[in-house]
Amino acid sequence: MRLSNAYFRTLRETPAEAEISSHILLMRAGMIRKLASGIYGFLPLGWRSIRKIEQIIREEMDAKGGQEILMSAVQPAELWQESGRWYGYGPELWRVKDRNGRDFCLGPTHEEIFTDIVRNDVNSYRQLPLNLYQIQTKYRDEARPRFGLLRTREFIMKDSYSFDKDAEGLEKSYTDMYDAYSRIFTRCGLDFRPVEADNGAIGGSKSHEFTALSAVGESEIAYCESCDMAATSERAACVDDATSNEAMYETEKVYTPGTKTIEDVAAYLGLDTKQTIKALLFVVHDETGEDKYVAAFIRGDRELNMTKLVNALGIPEHAIEFADEEAMSEATGCVGGFTGPIGLHDCKIVVDSELVGMKNLCAGACEVDHHIKNVNYGRDYKGDIVCDIKLIKEGYPCPVCGAPVKFARGIEVGQVFKLGTKYSESMGAYYKDENMQNHPIVMGCYGIGVSRTMAAVVEQYHDGNGIIWPMSVAPYHVIITLVSTEDETQVRVAEDLYEGLLAAGVEVILDDRQERPGVKFKDADLLGIPVRITVGRGASNGIVEYKMRRDAEKTEMKADDALQAAIAVVNAEKRG
Ligand SMILES: [Zn+2]
Repeated sequence: MRLSNAYFRTLRETPAEAEISSHILLMRAGMIRKLASGIYGFLPLGWRSIRKIEQIIREEMDAKGGQEILMSAVQPAELWQESGRWYGYGPELWRVKDRNGRDFCLGPTHEEIFTDIVRNDVNSYRQLPLNLYQIQTKYRDEARPRFGLLRTREFIMKDSYSFDKDAEGLEKSYTDMYDAYSRIFTRCGLDFRPVEADNGAIGGSKSHEFTALSAVGESEIAYCESCDMAATSERAACVDDATSNEAMYETEKVYTPGTKTIEDVAAYLGLDTKQTIKALLFVVHDETGEDKYVAAFIRGDRELNMTKLVNALGIPEHAIEFADEEAMSEATGCVGGFTGPIGLHDCKIVVDSELVGMKNLCAGACEVDHHIKNVNYGRDYKGDIVCDIKLIKEGYPCPVCGAPVKFARGIEVGQVFKLGTKYSESMGAYYKDENMQNHPIVMGCYGIGVSRTMAAVVEQYHDGNGIIWPMSVAPYHVIITLVSTEDETQVRVAEDLYEGLLAAGVEVILDDRQERPGVKFKDADLLGIPVRITVGRGASNGIVEYKMRRDAEKTEMKADDALQAAIAVVNAEKRG
């Protein structure tokens, strides 16, 4: 491509709202353009990188027997009503109506659509297993789109769905996709970790998230260096403290004026926060519109893990919010700042498993300015649900081996799920076995954020001057910087190199713009093309300058040697 007639413009200034490197650099390099909040378009160079990532995905999906199809992004509400997710998915589902008032959504994912396709076409065990995938534009009406391509309302995604006869088949499909994902992200050059993840709104029994390590990432992962435990912090089990062997003392109501927080009451009574019970009060709006109250209790020094709480309650996260204390007080007897498990009524009580083994704790008395000492589980209160609802923190014991866990941040670029029969049963996707018996098809689903992967690559590969693309996903492999378009020798050497590289199948940009050399060098660094060959004054002696974008040093060499060096490195690295 000749830059002189390319659709291409770089920006000198950092766009005002861009906070993170990938957003800043992709905008400045003219690879993406913002259309509206969380909605971006891709310009020629950015689009080439997207296509490279897509190609890697296609090759690895096809290698595992995947078959590519393309379903519509517009999905009828009826299918989502069948699966129960028209309500369950919440306000992020981008709902639209057609002119006749019929409900549709712009798909954030396609479980319902693929299940529908397969239930209509598959009826025999002979047609299984199947793995279908698509690469498509998806929609999620995010409350706060941010960080450029990392959290958008419109994004490019590869989603695939496996259909098997039984759990054993699903295990193989899941392992195949796990392997394919590991290869895909490796080929894209990413430093990533597969970690155990929550199933979220998708449902199912097992899931891994593929996380590209990055300080700007929104995923927090807990991992262990003594064993191979790695999980998102929302998923990671938090180990209960050792059970106390203390004797139970009589409960005692004490006057604790103005002590509305755990820290206040602990200080007032001279207790460790570990000897207190923290109350968190919620209201749940269910599908019928009826409000129900929930009180969650954890030890005073712990933090609540909201994901674990909603999973324990079996509700979607959007259905729960902190309660209005006055309204809840009237209905349940709770008292803001002084709520404890004793004296509450008409309220679902969720107790963290750790509290069961603790003795003689201090809790709110459900009475203004009062607490109760020596509160014991079983004797004084019980939970409707008892399970781990604590958030793991860095340094807490590893749930597998007990060593202190470490934390890291990352960008979720892919996720694999075992769905089991959740969708096939709710939507009636059955097959007949050898004996003509009906069974629900066993499903898995697997997603990769394609545009997000591009942003993750830039987060991991850049410096103060611009992007440093890995060869496998670079928009072009080589850029030839022609210093003077007025110098016939330079022009001839640059043109020869350009033709030579094209003939060898190398994707090459010739910067033949009538610009100052400084501008050309700055743009070449910003664009991050892996190999730069500069044709300047040395051209009269047949000498050019050869430089890898990722290395600091430049090498002067004969033009033909530069040609051969570029062809060699491109061929060695372009597959990733
Ligand atoms: Zn461990």
